[in-house]
Amino acid sequence: MEDILEPWVVGVDLGGTKIELGLIDPQNKIIAREKIPTNPDDGPESAVDRIAGVVNTFKKNIPDGQKIEALGICCPGPLDHEAGVLINPTNLPKFFNVPLRQMLSDRLDLPVTMEHDAKASALGEFHFGAGRNETSMVFMVIGTGVGAAIIMNGELVRGVKNFAGEVGHVTIDRNGEPCFCGSRGCLDTFTSGPWLARRYQRLLKENNQTVDDTISGQDVALRAKDGDPLALRIITEAGEAIGIAVATMAMILDIELFVFGGSVSKCGDLLLDPARLTVPKYSFRTVGPRVRLMVSELGNDGPILGCGWQARQKIK
Ligand SMILES: [Zn+2]
Repeated sequence: MEDILEPWVVGVDLGGTKIELGLIDPQNKIIAREKIPTNPDDGPESAVDRIAGVVNTFKKNIPDGQKIEALGICCPGPLDHEAGVLINPTNLPKFFNVPLRQMLSDRLDLPVTMEHDAKASALGEFHFGAGRNETSMVFMVIGTGVGAAIIMNGELVRGVKNFAGEVGHVTIDRNGEPCFCGSRGCLDTFTSGPWLARRYQRLLKENNQTVDDTISGQDVALRAKDGDPLALRIITEAGEAIGIAVATMAMILDIELFVFGGSVSKCGDLLLDPARLTVPKYSFRTVGPRVRLMVSELGNDGPILGCGWQARQKIK
């Protein structure tokens, strides 16, 4: 395959507030990019129109005789990647049961693939980032929510209904906080942005300090970085919860590399060091020491490159 040039493709990361697009050249570099608002209230037709507009402007970057050959898009779940249909993404109510892949394909006259955003990020990271020399990897997103995508022997593990990887709602403490999912003590209740804020505010109150209701998970992370001891305690507890979840996954899957993305993961070692110390306590001595935790290498480029990779598979 070495002498065959890879095709030009476009990767699109559609989120609740913004759509990020990247033009990917035959060497897998994003050579043009654009960010536009999702404007979810305008509905999917508007989004498709505006995506098509950006794809058109990308064409000026392509040498004569070559063209964009496919597009890959990723979106918040749940979605049906085979049918190319968004099911009921909570932050995109006008996109419920929308056949977005077909709409884009018709509008652009191109083959289009569609993937869950965490899985697309995992594919990007696996092929072009932290996982590029690995056979298996788990990608964990820690932000407003917590989720994971599992790549085993080069393939995404999807499960029967494409739900594999819902690690945010595995139980870390069965006597823990009630979670919105109906369970208790889920990983989410320790590490998601909203829970970091909630736990920190509670700790402030317990310590008779001024409680600021507007504080976000990101603020907690920033304060921890600045050495605020209470914020540091919350981030450490979050890291320990991650360590327990990683130990569990490592024992079940025998995967060594765990890569972290999402806003909370920007805490870096502040979050991952407590997790690294915790993993061996909850796993076999033959498993724990092999486990590596690291922050995403690609950041926001991960989903775009993952979508591009997947789009190419469709036309190969
Ligand atoms: Zn839960």
